[in-house]
Order: sequence, then structure tokens, then C-alpha cells
Amino acid sequence: MNLAILGPQGSGKGTQAERLVDKFGWLHIETGKILRNLVKTNHPLAKDINELMNQGLLVSDEVLSQVLDEQIKKEGAKRGILFDGSPRNLAQYGLIKKLLKERGEKLDKVVYIKISKEESLRRMSSRRTCERCGEVFNLLTNPAKIAGICDTCKGQLRQRADDQPEAIEKRLNKFREATIPVIEQAAKEKTLVEIEGEKPIEEVFNDIVKELGL
Ligand code: AMP
Repeated sequence: MNLAILGPQGSGKGTQAERLVDKFGWLHIETGKILRNLVKTNHPLAKDINELMNQGLLVSDEVLSQVLDEQIKKEGAKRGILFDGSPRNLAQYGLIKKLLKERGEKLDKVVYIKISKEESLRRMSSRRTCERCGEVFNLLTNPAKIAGICDTCKGQLRQRADDQPEAIEKRLNKFREATIPVIEQAAKEKTLVEIEGEKPIEEVFNDIVKELGL
């Protein structure tokens, strides 16, 4: 099965994606994380991408296309793919469908985790990310055992530049403008699975599994 998981910032899609790939063994293609790693390299576009990301803007469809094309060719992709963080607009939606079609496959489901703007802002302002390994914590719902220190690698926890209020607002607007049309399109194509995201993590997970018929 190939699926995409979408939701506004703070919807918990990253957490759910990790649980899903753990349980079902799909290849996890998390574009945000891939791009954050890319900016740490001496890639010719690293500086430009970093600038866009820090402002909460999207990287170009060309860059994304390169990233996805490379990922999709990975060995593990044969077991199924979970797209996390893409498609963020209709062009990317078309691109993912095209890349899968070339492999004789399709995007079976689009999971949309729905939360209000207020909840999104509340959750995002308390999010902290490990600067070393990228693990995500939340001061309210998933605090680190020792404040400010990553449970896994002992790296420092920081608020990402794009988790600051101004950037969050921009990212939420972008979601409404660019990603909601993808969700509407998936609804028309009968691949949409809509999930209520303002529930405990475990309940949201069970709802996803149930709605996917797994
Ligand atoms: P995320 O971790 O998914 O919130 O992504 C962080 C940032 O990475 C976004 O604000 C964008 O700048 C960039 N990014 C991640 N995925 C995409 C995508 N599919 N298309 C364009 N930019 C992306």
C-alpha cells in the first residue's frame, strides 16, 4: 500500500507516520526531515533551501521532485511508501501519482488529520526538536525526561526557526491555500481518509488503522 499523510502543522502526522511505518514496514519518505538534512551538507542549493525553510515557505517543486525521485528508487519502497510532508500542493500530488504510476503502482490512500488553527498554534509553540538527531518532543504532550535534552541521543532540544509564531502562521496559511485543494481532489477520487486529530495519540492511531482497513 502507498499512502500520504497530510495535516496542518501540529496535527501529529509525524508521530502517527512513525508508528505506522513501525507497524507496517513501509518506507517513510519525510520530505521535511530529508530537506533539513540536505541543508547541513554542501549541496549547491543548501543555502537557498535553508532560507526558505526558516521562513516557513515551501521549496520549489523542482527540488522536491529530485528528492522524491531519489527516495522512491530505494530498496524498501517495494514494501509500500508512506509520504509524510508531501504532497503539499496539486503539482506535487500529480508528481507523486506519476512517479508511482511509472512503477505500476498508485497512491492508494490520502490520510488527512484534521485539527483547528487554534490547536495547531498551541501545539506548535510548545514543540522542541533535537538539533542532533531530529527527534521531536512537546512541552505539553510529550516532554523530554530531562528538560532541554534529547532522550535518545542527549543532544540539545531547540525550537525550530520555522516553529516560531510568525513562521507557523505562514505555514498554516500555505496549508489552507495549497494543501486543502489536494485533500478536496483526493475526496473526489475517493481515496481520502479523514481523521479527527484532536484526540489522544493512541486513539488517532487506532482510527487511522481502522479506516485504512488494516
Ligand atoms: P515539515 O517538517 O514537513 O513541516 O517541513 C519543514 C519545511 O520543509 C517546510 O516548511 C518546507 O519549507 C520544507 N518542505 C517539506 N516538505 C516539502 C514539500 N513537500 N514541498 C515543499 N517544501 C517542503
